[in-house]
Amino acid sequence: HTVLGIETSCDETAAAVLRLVDGRATILSEIVRSQVEAHAPYGGVVPEIAARAHADIADQIVAAAIEESGLSLAELDGIAATSGPGLIGGVMVGMMTGKALALASGKPFLPVNHLEGHALSPRLAADCAFPYLLLLVSGGHCQFIEVRGLGEYRRLGTTIDDAAGEAFDKLAKLLGLGFPGGPAVERTAAGGDPKRYKLPRPLMDRDGLDMSFAGLKTAAARIIEAGDLSEQDKSDLCASYQAAIADCLTQRADRALSVFEAEGEKRLVVAGGVAANQAIRASLDAAASRHGARLIAPPLRHCTDNAAMIALAGAEHLAAGKVDVDAMSFSARPRWPLDEASALADPAYG
Ligand code: ATP
Ligand code: MG
Ligand code: FE
Repeated sequence: HTVLGIETSCDETAAAVLRLVDGRATILSEIVRSQVEAHAPYGGVVPEIAARAHADIADQIVAAAIEESGLSLAELDGIAATSGPGLIGGVMVGMMTGKALALASGKPFLPVNHLEGHALSPRLAADCAFPYLLLLVSGGHCQFIEVRGLGEYRRLGTTIDDAAGEAFDKLAKLLGLGFPGGPAVERTAAGGDPKRYKLPRPLMDRDGLDMSFAGLKTAAARIIEAGDLSEQDKSDLCASYQAAIADCLTQRADRALSVFEAEGEKRLVVAGGVAANQAIRASLDAAASRHGARLIAPPLRHCTDNAAMIALAGAEHLAAGKVDVDAMSFSARPRWPLDEASALADPAYG
């Protein structure tokens, strides 16, 4: 199955053409246009600016991806577009672009859950068979998901307030390091002492896999307000903050891995922009080793928002015969949990 994917749910406009044969994906073309520069002056993604930027270039990005694939519309088997969750204005732009192309070409429209795209993203490369544990850590999401198969997702735990990427962005804003915050904090942390500042590790003593990062930001804000920080102090604060986030994620990963059952190799996949962080990766890698599991981190371009993962989700749906006949009347969804029923009630992960 050959599918065009469109992604516009946050701050990247992306399109990709992918072919799925016997469960193996080949990316025929892939374009991602980031809007970071447009949002940087505001220190975060501004929904209205995002929607306008998507509307300005979505058609060109889609046309370029089709052109680069060397295929014509007629050679596609379906058109997939992120239909939620996300910033609604952007989601609508991508979805309407996809629907229009579907209408014009007579190909099925495939509404894709953005989170399902992330959940399936490790399958864009090599050998990532079901099942696996997924830690999705981005600016908007921070959750553990058990992926048992296509359409079989169980959310095991989530942040009860800020996402980890958001926590990085907030510290960067407090320290005036710029946006996006994660890479800036990681750079500043490089020469710092991660034990210098005692920062909270919320919910660590509680059962389950939920997380919380808002208190971390408050604690950092108090330190910053208390006095003039030298460059070394800033470095130490970034290192301590990064270590606190790594500890929180790793402790939950340890717990999840001790309960997660898989025949054969156990796999922990980390996806989302925060997966770029080397300290966090190393810490998760150590956790995986403790459980005889393998840590899989997709290449960075597939960790962050991209259209290849959306095309893959669409193609997997087509391959499984899961095509929604009412797809053309599907409305964009600002909220769309991957599994409606939270798995928190599962005593195994208590
Ligand atoms: P969504 O949550 O909908 O996927 P998003 O755009 O917020 O959207 P991504 O594009 O996947 O998510 O990731 C961006 C986030 O990742 C930002 O919060 C950014 O600060 C964080 N990030 C990027 N690089 C790093 C890094 N090296 N260390 C820590 N955080 C990082
Ligand atoms: Mg993004
Ligand atoms: Fe995303």
